[in-house]
Amino acid sequence: MSDPPTNIRALQSEQILEVSWPEGRVERFPYHQLRSECPCAACRNEWTGERMLDPKSIRPDLKLEGMENIGTYAIQLAWNDGHSSGLFTWETLRAIEQPGRESS
Ligand SMILES: [Zn+2]
Repeated sequence: MSDPPTNIRALQSEQILEVSWPEGRVERFPYHQLRSECPCAACRNEWTGERMLDPKSIRPDLKLEGMENIGTYAIQLAWNDGHSSGLFTWETLRAIEQPGRESS
């Protein structure tokens, strides 16, 4: 079980979700990437992990309409395309390849 982030900020004008982890690392996830990595059953095949969502179908003016903490283990993101069933656990967020992540 991962420790929860110390802070999560939505930077709407930049379309970035900024996540601060307890070890001090700050990650900036582009909305488009988070939306395409949505782990819910409609976007990803539960059994094979295959992505069902075509990233090209994601609207370019994507915005976050809501964030809700699910217990202490996940965050639920609601998008302006009407999709809000994606639960991102901290493990899921940590596993998303992030542009510019330092390899050290
Ligand atoms: Zn989804």
